[in-house]
Amino acid sequence: MSKGLVEIYDTTLRDGTQGEGVSFSVADKLRVAERLDAFGVHYVEGGWPGSNPKDNEFFKQAAKRKWKHAQIAAFGSTRRKKIAAKDDPQVRMLIDAKTPVVTIFGKTWLLHVKEVLHTTPKENLAMIADTIRLLKKKGKKVIYDAEHALDGYKDDPEYALQTWRAAEEAGADFVVLCDTNGGSLPGEVAAITAAAREALSCPLGIHTHNDIGLGVANALAGVDAGATQVQGTINGYGERTGNCNLTSVIPNLVLKMGRKSIPKANLKKLREMARFVDEVANLVPNRHQPWIGGTAFAHKGGMHVNAVQKVSRSFEHINPEAVGNSRRILVSDLAGRSNIVMKAQEMGIRINNDTPELKDILARVKEQEHLGYDYEGAEGSLALLIRKALGRVEPAFDLEAYHVSMRGDSLEHVCEATVKVTVGGKTAHTVADGDGPVNALDHALRNSLRGFYPVLKTVRLTDYKVRILNSATGTAAKTRVLIESTDGKDRWYTVGVNENIIEASLQALLDSIEFRLLKK
Ligand SMILES: [Zn+2]
Repeated sequence: MSKGLVEIYDTTLRDGTQGEGVSFSVADKLRVAERLDAFGVHYVEGGWPGSNPKDNEFFKQAAKRKWKHAQIAAFGSTRRKKIAAKDDPQVRMLIDAKTPVVTIFGKTWLLHVKEVLHTTPKENLAMIADTIRLLKKKGKKVIYDAEHALDGYKDDPEYALQTWRAAEEAGADFVVLCDTNGGSLPGEVAAITAAAREALSCPLGIHTHNDIGLGVANALAGVDAGATQVQGTINGYGERTGNCNLTSVIPNLVLKMGRKSIPKANLKKLREMARFVDEVANLVPNRHQPWIGGTAFAHKGGMHVNAVQKVSRSFEHINPEAVGNSRRILVSDLAGRSNIVMKAQEMGIRINNDTPELKDILARVKEQEHLGYDYEGAEGSLALLIRKALGRVEPAFDLEAYHVSMRGDSLEHVCEATVKVTVGGKTAHTVADGDGPVNALDHALRNSLRGFYPVLKTVRLTDYKVRILNSATGTAAKTRVLIESTDGKDRWYTVGVNENIIEASLQALLDSIEFRLLKK
């Protein structure tokens, strides 16, 4: 078996949009397609021409652009029964989409032929062959997606092979075995792909779904058995439990199986690319996603961290940077000295296992966590805590007093904040308003400090999360506020905890400003 190129066929923009909560505008689709192209994906399936105006517009725009790596594919089905392919409007729209590639699906499974299409096995073969022949005549590269290929083969292997042969003989450039219902096992996928490999001479592809958690495993089993194209979606978007997740397939192919696919150098952009797609889809990235998730290379247990610090290979299956991810040391109740040391070093603080203040820092972190602070997502506040314990931070300012008020009527409400700060003996008294009390407080604080520290002009709050902590002790519930700030270049995260949400927010805001001033 040749160990040639394995092509990546992305269907995020078509099969992926079948997923709950996944929706793209035309502009979104073009942005995603461009990103996939830059990443080195071989095919980008843009949608189903004729299924909706959005997809038609996408193909119109796509035809005008230059694509570096990817070939754009339009998706559709074989001709309807008892009609010439050239007279089928759906097939004509595929041709009119002006894409170099057309992917059509057709039936493998007799159950579908008889009970869904209500036609004969013979007419189904003709529907496949006629459509492919017409598309080939029009100069298209044709990818034939054999729908229910696995279930159809399990039901009647002889007829399944006939349908695939019909596609091959009509000139299909690829026959792609689809596990449409997503219920097959890797062993079955391997055996059926091998049987197809045996019977056909055209290249094979594999298209799997994740209904039993085996989407990626099945795709890789297909590749091992001879498939040279994998169809799937970024982040595994797709109906029900999703499609085969290309974000896992790609590094597995390249880094684990040693196959040629997306260039290895581009894999360093995998995480960034996958997060970009989440961003455009307006979905929260799955922190637990293999390879690229926030927790994929996070170490929590003190002993693990100790070992990782010595030899990273001891608790990591691969260097996280290979896929653009990074090692994260979690500081938590389990934190040992090693966690703190590694975390501090990561943040550029000079410290080692023999630093005398280490014991105090550890005690302070545990004490704060007991109060409800969580430093796992608040590296900025942790850096301040450590630097303060090391005595390396001079307070940049003092907040002498603050006042927040809110008034409103049926039409609008106004929040106003007043702060009084002193810097080196000088006092500033500032009033500002905002959309909400925290926003007003943020404006007032930064306005008053900007005169002293012009670097704060570019700082702004980009995210604000509030979590109510359940109080087990019967006292009032506490609020934990996590804020994300940026100066246009870097991002940092700070935390505050209090029974009062304004007070908790103020702590996080003050930490954010102090942290930025540390860099100056
Ligand atoms: Zn599918």
